[in-house]
Amino acid sequence: MPMPKCSLCDEYRPGKMAAVYWGYRYASGDRRSYKQLYDANCYRVIHELVMKSEEGLFDCPICHKDDPLAHGMSFFATVFLPGGKRTDMVVEVCEECHLLFEDKVMQGATRLADRSGAGAGGPPPRPLDDPWSGYR
Ligand SMILES: [Zn+2]
Ligand SMILES: [Zn+2]
Repeated sequence: MPMPKCSLCDEYRPGKMAAVYWGYRYASGDRRSYKQLYDANCYRVIHELVMKSEEGLFDCPICHKDDPLAHGMSFFATVFLPGGKRTDMVVEVCEECHLLFEDKVMQGATRLADRSGAGAGGPPPRPLDDPWSGYR
């Protein structure tokens, strides 16, 4: 098994990483899904977002404006920690910042096949380019 690479710092790390599955939808209805891996150090960024989501604090993670959803975008994520703990969260990003946040979601990420209900249950999606996915 190849050593996993952290999406954020781009370093190969031995051992397990946290997996984050992102799903979001443009105003046009177009969906995007991405998977990122985080080592224990870089996971702190995600942990802060999870904490905020659990507390219902929906200020924009980039500019920290309150109530970003007036014209913003919701990014849903399912977070799997090594050991199997699973958390669903939503990050709400204002209109001015959603492209910046999308850049972060795409950083070092694997694009996944679009699916409905991302971040709201269901098994994690399979990578688009996995030729073995039909046999499992
Ligand atoms: Zn890292
Ligand atoms: Zn913002």
